[in-house]
Amino acid sequence: MIYLDYQATTPVAPEVAKAMQPWIEDRFANPHSPSRWGREAEAAIEVARKHVESAIGLKGGDIAFTGSATEAINWALKGTVEKAAEGRNRIITVATEHAAVLDTCEWLAEQGVDLTLLPVGVDGRLDLTLLERELDNRVLLVAVMQVNNEIGVTQPISEIAAMAHAAGALMLCDAVQAFGRVDLCRGPDLVALSAHKIHGPKGVGALWMRKGAEPAPFIHGGGQERGLRSGTLSPALCVGFGAAAKLAHERANRDYDHVEKLWDAALKALGPGWIVNGDTKHRYKGNLNIRREGVDAARLLADLRDIAFSLGSACASGSGRPSHVLRALGLNYRQSRSSIRLGFGRYTKQHDLVDACKRIAAVAHAQEKLDA
Ligand code: PLP
Repeated sequence: MIYLDYQATTPVAPEVAKAMQPWIEDRFANPHSPSRWGREAEAAIEVARKHVESAIGLKGGDIAFTGSATEAINWALKGTVEKAAEGRNRIITVATEHAAVLDTCEWLAEQGVDLTLLPVGVDGRLDLTLLERELDNRVLLVAVMQVNNEIGVTQPISEIAAMAHAAGALMLCDAVQAFGRVDLCRGPDLVALSAHKIHGPKGVGALWMRKGAEPAPFIHGGGQERGLRSGTLSPALCVGFGAAAKLAHERANRDYDHVEKLWDAALKALGPGWIVNGDTKHRYKGNLNIRREGVDAARLLADLRDIAFSLGSACASGSGRPSHVLRALGLNYRQSRSSIRLGFGRYTKQHDLVDACKRIAAVAHAQEKLDA
């Protein structure tokens, strides 16, 4: 199996698995218990917290661990609405956001929030003049992701945050696909993260919050995480997240250079006839979303079952629905059905990627001949 689905999830780093091991086996104490073992577990979580915060690299705030980035995003959006000042009832977001943002915003709209969904250009980027036009003193929050999960395109987060702040609004950044891969942009008040996209375990995420911008609690109970997010923390998951963040931080340049080389090698191996979906300059290059005239991408997936790649987000691949991101770029039904996403990173071997790309190109070519 050649694994090319790094946006869906990433392989757990050996260093991460090793760091988690003792906390899965004999070090089982509750980190919120006053016993010596409980204190040790709590101390391990605090070390992990520092690793995640250092890797984030933003000043003036800290994180609370959550069960996923989806939870962090739900909390950021719903908890900010709950604390909103009188008259601030608008949320602005973008058509290409992840379902965690879009579906939560739509739910909030059903509860009475005034929601604005901004379009993107054919390159997948937000036109800041459109945002400028929408910003007014009723805007509570602007939510924009840094790196898109389906097409890898980046948005100018620092400029967007500055514009939101000038209108008296807060900014939420879904940095799930950016964290550990590129430097996080300065400016947002709330940042959502996930461990399993950076070679950490599934089932743990975090919300970074600028001091003073903390949303109202979303999960109530034992008062953990400074009373903001109740629930017993998992030392194993938090330690795993910390180890993954530390590793990503230490290897940042090496991982980045590796990905740039892989991108060039993949495009060369695919050969002519493929079009990259979205901007080729403003992007993270570990995400190669491409289309080819006349290709049936679902058939391509079925014909190459020993290569793990996808049709977009894991959710879009499962539903059979054309991707909302590709539609937002202006692709028609046929073009989006002929698009595939190849995701690669730290543990991808160049010869595996080249082999997979050549086979994908050959099967696509055979399809064209068959359908001609
Ligand atoms: N946001 C983006 C951009 C993602 O890619 C994902 C995961 O696919 C999420 C949010 C949700 O993350 P989690 O799996 O931690 O809930």
